[in-house]
Amino acid sequence: MRSLDEAALEASTCTKCRLAQGRTQVVYGTGSANADLMFIGEGPGYHEDKQGEPFVGAAGQLLNRMLAEIGIERGDVWIANVIKCRPPGNRDPLPDEIEACSPWLQEQIRLIDPHVIVTLGNFATRFVLDKPVSISRVRGQRFAVGGRVVIPTFHPAAILHGGGEASSQMTALRADFQEIRTALAEAPQPVEEQLGLF
Ligand code: URA
Repeated sequence: MRSLDEAALEASTCTKCRLAQGRTQVVYGTGSANADLMFIGEGPGYHEDKQGEPFVGAAGQLLNRMLAEIGIERGDVWIANVIKCRPPGNRDPLPDEIEACSPWLQEQIRLIDPHVIVTLGNFATRFVLDKPVSISRVRGQRFAVGGRVVIPTFHPAAILHGGGEASSQMTALRADFQEIRTALAEAPQPVEEQLGLF
């Protein structure tokens, strides 16, 4: 298998769909290549397209806050999106764009090999579960996919555009992050760590 850096370099010149024409840059993903926990959002917005990093705008601030609340550093997880280029005007990704982009995300999952994948919102959840589910029905549950634990939750932007801090969605998001913490703590540890050698 090639490295994440090699994959990111190839992705940076991708022209597999029409989104290549309007993007400033490909937003491949960010974080630790050895992450046990991976977040998958929808696609880059204005700020992500400019900075080349996922979740750096308002939704990213909320994601950072939720991570801090469960004692996890942003730099220790991997953060990616279903599509790697910003759609014009932040419209929803189209099915053929998701299809064209999917090999990048599938390779990322193989390379990083996380124990827990958190899907943020409908697009990421439907992609990973490969089912036309609704996020409000499946959020907070654990799904087993390819030997990994998948936990869908609300997209942070949905909370910002919805009820905000006092909403039931926010309460659900908090509960789901506790579930993420629990699932991660149950992840099998490498043998050396189990033996306490390092
Ligand atoms: N929303 C997403 O789905 N992804 C980002 O990177 C930013 C906002």
